[in-house]
Amino acid sequence: MNISQQQSLLHFNSFALDVKAQQLVTFSSQAQLSEFSLTEGVPYFIIAGGSNLLFCEDFKGVLLKPEFTGKTVVDAGDAWLITVGAGENWHQFVTWCLAQGYPGLENLALIPGCVGATPVQNIGAYGVEIKDFVEQVNAYDLINKQWRQMSRDECEFGYRDSIFKHALKDSHLIVEVTFRLPKQWQPVTSYGDLKSLPDSATADDIFNLVCQVRSQKLPDPNELGNAGSFFKNPQVPEAQAQALAIAYPDMPIYDTAIAGQKKLAAGWLIDQCGLKGRKVGGAQVHQQQALVLVNTGTASAKDVVELAWLVRTSVAERFGVLLEHEVRFIGAQGETNLDEMMLQFEQQALASEA
Ligand SMILES: Cc1cc2nc3c(=O)[nH]c(=O)nc-3n(C[C@H](O)[C@H](O)[C@H](O)COP(=O)(O)OP(=O)(O)OC[C@H]3O[C@@H](n4cnc5c(N)ncnc54)[C@H](O)[C@@H]3O)c2cc1C
Repeated sequence: MNISQQQSLLHFNSFALDVKAQQLVTFSSQAQLSEFSLTEGVPYFIIAGGSNLLFCEDFKGVLLKPEFTGKTVVDAGDAWLITVGAGENWHQFVTWCLAQGYPGLENLALIPGCVGATPVQNIGAYGVEIKDFVEQVNAYDLINKQWRQMSRDECEFGYRDSIFKHALKDSHLIVEVTFRLPKQWQPVTSYGDLKSLPDSATADDIFNLVCQVRSQKLPDPNELGNAGSFFKNPQVPEAQAQALAIAYPDMPIYDTAIAGQKKLAAGWLIDQCGLKGRKVGGAQVHQQQALVLVNTGTASAKDVVELAWLVRTSVAERFGVLLEHEVRFIGAQGETNLDEMMLQFEQQALASEA
């Protein structure tokens, strides 16, 4: 266990915001986790690769960072069961699986972050979600100091959602994830650019195309700070989607797994508001990809929050659709959200004027 005080988070968040945490505790073994106790009244938050987080201000508490590594493979007859430590890099794990002859995760290549974070928001891309492959999640209950093995059903996966964002939010630290990769490999090439692949496409072909397209379309956080898609694609009632389709015949509208609900493309809505390239301070709506907010190098957390507010307000005024941020907002005391942060900044501005 390693403990550092007043830790700069510049290299711990993909937005590259220069904020601090009062304390950062890293764990390299499960035994270290059992020995650790939370301090009552001191805020804490679990961090992995920091690629889905917006630190809105200095965090006045303890950040817990699991760095467990290692992989084990079990032959389960019709599938490979692969158990991976939470601290392993996700893309490297996907690459390793393919090299070993365990295809299945190729559509999810190049998503930044660690394995342990993947069930939290049920990461997804190119028509595949992690829930399609999760067999079991092993977690440590930080409150009751108990180990817990959870099946896929117990994780209550949804669109960019799971039980780790609700009932078990912050209380359960994921230690390792077991994936079931069927030996009878089924390619998924029905989504976007992957449609161009021939029927004979291999898992390596899919992997290579996904990496190529993602590198072209999305800004590399190592070059331009960002946290990927800032907002979720909004789900709206079918009647609202029909009314929007009449008013905006070009609007992309997708089916969802939920009856009576349709999904809209958040990037399209933002683009239609003419916001590509719009700046607030050093924060900017990416020039090519409207769904991504970037740090041009000089952004403060407040710039990003205010830009997110501008985007959400513009989309709401034009389309009557309220965007929900996919990126997790972290305030001084723990998780917060766009409304709370805007209110706080406004109150701070009023207080400084008084
Ligand atoms: C350029 C770019 C592209 C992206 N593309 C996609 C995409 O296509 N699809 C997609 O779904 N996401 C995408 N993302 C978002 C992000 O990569 C994923 O959400 C990723 O899983 C976050 O991993 P992380 O290790 O950085 O987690 P963090 O950002 O550190 O944490 C994310 C959340 O998970 C929790 N958490 C992390 N580890 C654990 C753990 N071990 N136990 C319990 N809770 C934990 C944290 O508390 C936090 O709430 C993208 C991000 C970027 C920057």
